[in-house]
Amino acid sequence: MTTPTTDLELVSVTKRYGATVAVDAINHTFRPGGYACLLGPSGCGKSSTLRMIAGHEAVSDGAILLGGSDISTLPPARRGTAMMFQNYALFPHLTVIDNVAFSLKMRGEDKASRLKKAGEMLDLVDLGTHTDRLPDQLSGGQQQRVALARALITRPQVLLLDEPLSALDPFLRIRMRGELRRLQRELGISFVHVTHGQDEALALADEIVVMNNAVIEQAGPAREVFNAPTTAFVARFIGGHNVIALPQGHFAIRTDAVGLTRSEPGQMQGNVTSVEYQGAHVAVLTRIAGDQDISALVPEDVFFSHPMNPGDQVGLIWEDTNLHKLTA
Ligand code: ADP
Repeated sequence: MTTPTTDLELVSVTKRYGATVAVDAINHTFRPGGYACLLGPSGCGKSSTLRMIAGHEAVSDGAILLGGSDISTLPPARRGTAMMFQNYALFPHLTVIDNVAFSLKMRGEDKASRLKKAGEMLDLVDLGTHTDRLPDQLSGGQQQRVALARALITRPQVLLLDEPLSALDPFLRIRMRGELRRLQRELGISFVHVTHGQDEALALADEIVVMNNAVIEQAGPAREVFNAPTTAFVARFIGGHNVIALPQGHFAIRTDAVGLTRSEPGQMQGNVTSVEYQGAHVAVLTRIAGDQDISALVPEDVFFSHPMNPGDQVGLIWEDTNLHKLTA
């Protein structure tokens, strides 16, 4: 099943709530048929952005284009988008299949046709055998699949997901993550997924859009954002990096690119302040001159061949090519 895909474009989109500027003139074109994550800390404007795309919140300024036409004033059901909510918002008194078929009923589609389509959608999310249950007879993960089927039945060009995994336990979250990715590939439509979890964004996204304080700090392919963060905020938020102030400026360096040696004159010196065993790696936190903390992620076999303890003096080494100059 493939649906034609079209560009979703945000043109200087602004959202104000009274005096609060929640989204400040952001511009972005989402890759058609891609999996995009809007990533950022709580309150940075992710949900407001998503709700404006969905049409659940009016745009204060700017435009939202889908396939070149301005959809920013259309009602949600006529935009070509569909939204899956964090709390699933299923109707408790309707069976699974009637929940999924609901929007087709609203459109006046006849019963046989809407039940057939709803059944196909439920097969797609592996719930074909649970069609007659009520939502409270399903697990959290199953309720989520119903919510997905219900959003997808309208054949949207863009599926919008607001923190879709946050209500699940960690084990199920990782499984559903894989399911979302599989569905997105199978359907070939664009997904825009809001999350504050960097691991979730890295695992899912073709493209990560990092937001902070109502603006987009950096957007690009997941590996590019992780390997070459452009600002100190992105380097810290995406995780796995140190931000270091050197005489030439501020730099990011991945924690797994920092090597530790026995302290030698002429090297950057650090004092080990903590050692944390993480299974495959050991995280060694050191403090260098100027009270800067630098973390080194050391493979466990390397660490245990020369174990270190808090209080030890060590030398810090890295390849200069692994330093990324930051703009802010
Ligand atoms: P995020 O999804 O990144 O957590 P939101 O888009 O929900 O961020 O919120 C961005 C900012 O807008 C926050 O300061 C939040 O308090 C404010 N905000 C969100 N919704 C409303 C609302 N309905 N009324 C007033 N302020 C709001």
